[in-house]
Amino acid sequence: MKLPLYIQIVIALIIAAIVGILLGAGHPIIDKGIIEHLVLPCTLIIKALRTLATPLIFLAILHTFISADLPGKSGSKLVFLLMSNTVVAIIIGLFVSNILHPGSGGKLGIATPTEKPNVKPLDPWSLVSDVIPDSIVKPLVDNNVISLIFVALAFGIVLRAIKTEQMAKSQTEYQTIERIISLLFDAVIRILHWVIKLVPLAVFGIVSKTIALQGFEPFQSLGAFVLAVLLALTLQTIYYLIRLRFGTWVSPRKFIIGARDALVSAFCTASSTATMPITFDCLVNKIGLRESSASLGVLVGGNFNHDGTALYEAMSALFISQVIGQHLTLAQQLMVVLTSIVASVGAAGIPEAGLVTMTLVLTSVGLPTEYVAILITIDWFLDRCRTTINVLGDMTVSALIDGKKATI
Ligand code: ASP
Repeated sequence: MKLPLYIQIVIALIIAAIVGILLGAGHPIIDKGIIEHLVLPCTLIIKALRTLATPLIFLAILHTFISADLPGKSGSKLVFLLMSNTVVAIIIGLFVSNILHPGSGGKLGIATPTEKPNVKPLDPWSLVSDVIPDSIVKPLVDNNVISLIFVALAFGIVLRAIKTEQMAKSQTEYQTIERIISLLFDAVIRILHWVIKLVPLAVFGIVSKTIALQGFEPFQSLGAFVLAVLLALTLQTIYYLIRLRFGTWVSPRKFIIGARDALVSAFCTASSTATMPITFDCLVNKIGLRESSASLGVLVGGNFNHDGTALYEAMSALFISQVIGQHLTLAQQLMVVLTSIVASVGAAGIPEAGLVTMTLVLTSVGLPTEYVAILITIDWFLDRCRTTINVLGDMTVSALIDGKKATI
């Protein structure tokens, strides 16, 4: 019998705690150099995540443009709702982080890289000129998310236009490229699944090493971070309920009762994609939305709208900057907003996908990606919470599209 990933991670955490205590819990009983080697699987996994991040985002954007079906007026309403909800989620995340400072005074036990990160003061001109890459492959090579988006958007818009023209003339050549993009997207996600399977090993390594060398102190600031994220996700839920109350015919109470199965499934599977059929069923059969509104919110939103992920990525960036004392200016926080939007669109609806795209958010403001390692240890839990919000966000959007008039 195969154990679910979260059980494997919990087991890894327990074994790691035992090994960490046996190795000295802060007063190492063997050579520190040997203990440091425990971090190796984690380093390799983060490297692999970084490698996958750019192709994942690139293909996700192309895939969105070429395959999303947005019927006329509700299409633009949908895009507006998705974007506004995501921006609100990020603002809530940044607000809570800026007020509570969960990372201040914390030590996470990761050696701060000796190389000073390459943080340029953000001047608007360099921002604009950095958008256009020197060559088409450079954004992929440099993991530069902003110019990557630029290239992907350019191709996405053109491919969409070609598809529309060909469809009008009943031509079908576009289908080949559509299939190739979809195939490559699926392939990247499959490789991502392989990497994710190794996460328990990474958790074991990083936790046992941290406990052995520093004891349990580093985990205290992680506790503050978990609470801050939970608070921000709760505020986002309140925001959804207010939008539902004033923008739809469904009462927030009826909505939450009808959405229960989907929310529980999202929490249990940590995958908004796996939850999709249940989400659709709840919207249509339990809440009573029109099928058209439900399918728009679930299919389009479910694939590309991850408000919980966006909120989490922005909070993680701020948390790491607080831990290492590298203050993020307002301009850099704006960059975090921008990249978190993209990162949440690019994150697949599968467990731990947010960690992959997070590497890009961190790189964009010059934060070290090494710290993703320590976040892996709590991600098995926070992933479930943000996935629940991802699904709640899609359901809210469906209800808002359904409008103020009930079907009967
Ligand atoms: N697990 C999330 C989802 O399926 C994505 C993430 O890792 O943030 O929606």
